[in-house]
Amino acid sequence: MNEYLKRYIELKKQFVATNNSPDSVRSLYAFKEELEYMEEEQAKEVLVDVYDLLDFKKDAYDLLCQIGNRSDKKTLKRLGTLKDYAENWGNHYAIPKPKTPKEKQSEKEQRLQLGLPTFRYHPDPLDTGAFDESKEGVVCDCCGKTTHIFYTNPFFSIEDIAYLCPECIASGAAARKYNGSFQDDLSLDDGVDNPEKLDELIHRTPGYSGWQQEYWRAHCGDYCAFLGYVGARELRALGVLEEVLDDSMWDEEEKEMIRESVNGGHLQCYLFQCLHCGKHLLWMDFD
Ligand SMILES: [Zn+2]
Ligand SMILES: [Zn+2]
Repeated sequence: MNEYLKRYIELKKQFVATNNSPDSVRSLYAFKEELEYMEEEQAKEVLVDVYDLLDFKKDAYDLLCQIGNRSDKKTLKRLGTLKDYAENWGNHYAIPKPKTPKEKQSEKEQRLQLGLPTFRYHPDPLDTGAFDESKEGVVCDCCGKTTHIFYTNPFFSIEDIAYLCPECIASGAAARKYNGSFQDDLSLDDGVDNPEKLDELIHRTPGYSGWQQEYWRAHCGDYCAFLGYVGARELRALGVLEEVLDDSMWDEEEKEMIRESVNGGHLQCYLFQCLHCGKHLLWMDFD
C-alpha cells in the first residue's frame, strides 16, 4: 500500500469515528490541498477518494475522468456513480471547511475593506448570501449611490425595491424611507423586552431567506445572530448537532428530522447563535 493511501485510510477512520468532527474535516482539507500539488499518479488516485469523501462530487468525477483506466470495470462503475452525483450535486454540498479563529479574523478585516457595516444579528451577511457583489456596481434605490454590494434577501415593503446598499440597511434609512422591515415582528422568539433591540433586528439587520416565513431565534434576553443555512452534516462538521437538539423548541420527531436534514433539501435548517452565552439554536421549515 502506498504512503498516500495509508494516510487516507487513517484520516477517513478518524472522520468516521468522530462523526465528521471539525478536526477530522480540517485534516482532510489539509491533505486535499497537499495532494492537489502532487503530480504522482498515486497521489491523484487518492485525491479522487478525498474529493468523494468530502462530497466534492464534481471534482472527484472530473479527476477520475482524467486519470481513470476505462478498461477497468471497477473504475467504470465508479465513474457512472460519480457522474450522477456530479450532475445533480456538483460541488454544492461539499462539507464546509471549519474556520479557525485566525481565518475568521481575516474575513472580518476583508469585510471592513469592502466597507461593509457590522450587523450584530447577522455577522457574516456576505457568507450567508444576504449580500451579493457586483463588479460593475448597481444603484441603491434608497440613497441613489452606486454600490458594489447589494442586498438579496426579503425586504417587506409596499414598494418594489430592486437594490439596497448595506449602508442604507445599517442606518435604518431604507426601513424609514419605505416603511419596511427585514423581519416580520410577529415571527420572533419571545423573551426580548427591549424595543431598541427589536428595532435593530427588524429595521437595521439584513434578513435571511427561508422556504416559508422567516423566524428569528432569541436567547438570554436578546436576539441571536443568524449564522447561515445548514443541514445535519454541517451541524456535525461544526460540532454543534447535539447542542441544537438540546432545545425545548423541538419534540422527538422534530429532532429526528433535524438529524436527517440536508442543506438545500426539503427540510432546511437555519443556524443561530446566542450573542451572550454562545449557545447554537436552530429554526427549520419545509419547501
Ligand atoms: Zn443606499
Ligand atoms: Zn444565551
